Amino acid sequence: MYGEVVSARRLTPHLVRVVLGGPGLDDFVLGEDADQYVNCFFLPDAAPYSVPFEDEVVRALPREQRPFPRRITVRAWDAERRELTLDIAAHGDVGYAGRWAARARAGDRLQLRGPAGGYRPHADADSYLFVGDESALPAIAACAEAVPAGRRVVVVVEVEDAAGEVELGSPGELEVHWVHRAGRHDGLDDLLAEAVAALPRPAGVVSAFVHGEAAETRAVRRVLLREGLVEQERLSCSPYWRRGMDDEAWRAVKAAWVRETAADPVG
Ligand SMILES: Cc1cc2nc3c(=O)[nH]c(=O)nc-3n(C[C@H](O)[C@H](O)[C@H](O)COP(=O)(O)OP(=O)(O)OC[C@H]3O[C@@H](n4cnc5c(N)ncnc54)[C@H](O)[C@@H]3O)c2cc1C
Repeated sequence: MYGEVVSARRLTPHLVRVVLGGPGLDDFVLGEDADQYVNCFFLPDAAPYSVPFEDEVVRALPREQRPFPRRITVRAWDAERRELTLDIAAHGDVGYAGRWAARARAGDRLQLRGPAGGYRPHADADSYLFVGDESALPAIAACAEAVPAGRRVVVVVEVEDAAGEVELGSPGELEVHWVHRAGRHDGLDDLLAEAVAALPRPAGVVSAFVHGEAAETRAVRRVLLREGLVEQERLSCSPYWRRGMDDEAWRAVKAAWVRETAADPVG
């Protein structure tokens, strides 16, 4: 399956909205979850093939010539126009997904697989809490839009600065807290956790997710469980990426990290 770029524009200095369309998406079927992702395949600069490509053909190539898979959230799927919207973090002149998005032009093609499911706001919750960085903003925005009307939705998002903030909408009663890195590169692991710890204690049953940088999501998870703010079965914690590692290096250690996180003392 592949999409052709219909439009690409900066939502913020660090987030690019890419809308894909065309006959290559004819087989795209959205699942039930509010938070779903597609596996996108980004080509290395001197790839001796183009999109669409056959998996068997690229699999036979040397590693550095094969496409680089990256998971990206389905920000929106317009079933009538058959257009898929992805919001991709442009994080400097590194990485395959970020650089592709920053340079994307109408007509560019992106091969993808999926979608697969993630989190769905629990229908029986009294309130919702969604926490993450720019990479989680598409999931946060999609889930804020999918909660039952009238319920409380608290969102905590880390971005670089005020220019990184976007308009969010929800049928719920939405409260958004923006956390700014403000040029800092070190000591970021607890930034979101401190913001979450400072929130007023929610009443009733909470459904929550925390997605984004691995150490940050882990720190937030610890706070949420230690303080008893969310029951473990209503908390989704997804370490999307790890500072200092590309996705290949991160995927090699991710399972061990997730196991260690599950064993974190939270009592
Ligand atoms: C289920 C799921 C859904 C996701 N949805 C989205 C989404 O909708 N939008 C999105 O942008 N990302 C999303 N991500 C995260 C994305 O897959 C990773 O951030 C991926 O590493 C980006 O690939 P890249 O090729 O740009 O950078 P890589 O080649 O993986 O990394 C290059 C360098 O950039 C750093 N880096 C990677 N991501 C970021 C970042 N966001 N900010 C700062 N530095 C970074 C790495 O640590 C490394 O040093 C999702 C991940 C998962 C697992």
